[in-house]
Amino acid sequence: MKDTNCLFCKIATGEIPCDKVYEDADTLAFLDIHPVNPGHTLVIPKEHCQNVFETPEEIWNKVMQSVQKVAQAIRTGLPTEDLNIAMNNGTYAGQVVFHAHVHIMPRHAGDGFELWHGKMYAEGEASVIAEKIKKAF
Ligand code: AMP
Ligand code: ZN
Repeated sequence: MKDTNCLFCKIATGEIPCDKVYEDADTLAFLDIHPVNPGHTLVIPKEHCQNVFETPEEIWNKVMQSVQKVAQAIRTGLPTEDLNIAMNNGTYAGQVVFHAHVHIMPRHAGDGFELWHGKMYAEGEASVIAEKIKKAF
């Protein structure tokens, strides 16, 4: 269902223009307006879902299929060998637009875009954390 206040719903219906690179019945891919590198693409479900937590499994699977197709096309069509695929889910994860979207970001040597920095677990902490996640399924 369309959310009338949602930017990406408006892009999905064509109300707001985009540089479209791929479309099928359930998904749309278009260039991010502020690319990490040229070719930075967003893949969205056409149906309004906020993020990974809200996206029905069937739609999630379709988005993932499109992500792989678009990633292959970016790699074939642009001078890029490598790319990152990422998704921000929730405010503290950096999500700004609350319509689910997967970023596909071409990467080049020395492009200055850093990945996250890992921390160390305290002694015994990792198994406690793993147990909590396992119990939640
Ligand atoms: P996120 O932080 O994961 O919610 O990312 C939202 C992304 O949407 C950012 O990378 C923005 O540059 C991008 N964005 C915002 N408005 C538009 C737009 N009108 N067309 C294309 N990309 C957009
Ligand atoms: Zn939406």
